[in-house]
Amino acid sequence: MSSEIPAKCEPTRVLEALKEFANDAMCDRCLPCPIATRQAIALLERVVGGRGEAEDLARLTRISIRLADAARCPRGEETANALGESLQNNKEEYEEHLAGRCASGTCRALVRFRVVPERCTMCGLCQEACPRGAIVGAPYVPYLGDNRPYVIREKKCDGCGRCVEACPAHAIERVVKEWRCQNRSP
Ligand code: SF4
Ligand code: SF4
Ligand code: SF4
Repeated sequence: MSSEIPAKCEPTRVLEALKEFANDAMCDRCLPCPIATRQAIALLERVVGGRGEAEDLARLTRISIRLADAARCPRGEETANALGESLQNNKEEYEEHLAGRCASGTCRALVRFRVVPERCTMCGLCQEACPRGAIVGAPYVPYLGDNRPYVIREKKCDGCGRCVEACPAHAIERVVKEWRCQNRSP
């Protein structure tokens, strides 16, 4: 649990690199390259979204090999190798995501946010910063008997993290969710 902005997890980092390649450098000259790249992006989106399946790591590895074979330019080869190396060197982190956990707290689908009541000074700044109206509470009133700490409504929260940055008391924590997708393979 932390109120600091975490470093990106490995699946997210690789997903962003693949999207950048697809948007900026990929030229569609050799057909397997765009097909493999888009398949890898779709699979990684599933993984960071908490909907990954046990077979996805093997699927991604096959895609990286196919992409390396098909690539006709150094950029395509580099992208394929970067994907393959990431899967090989960070297997545990990918498996953690498949189990529904993102230890760094970067994957929004796998974390939730909570206000630590003891630290909340009831300033209301998180509520002002929240674009989803997910935070309930009222500013502190001196001498009032029932002042209460602010609370985050999980159903409305989309995990943007703006409240964490807005809170001067460091009272908002990222909490790693523990859950498994109902549709996931055993
Ligand atoms: S491998 Fe290189 S040449 Fe082939 S489609 Fe990808 S970017 Fe284009
Ligand atoms: S993470 Fe974003 S949506 Fe969720 S409570 Fe904080 S500001 Fe609102
Ligand atoms: S910004 Fe922090 S201290 Fe202020 S109300 Fe929100 S959680 Fe409490």
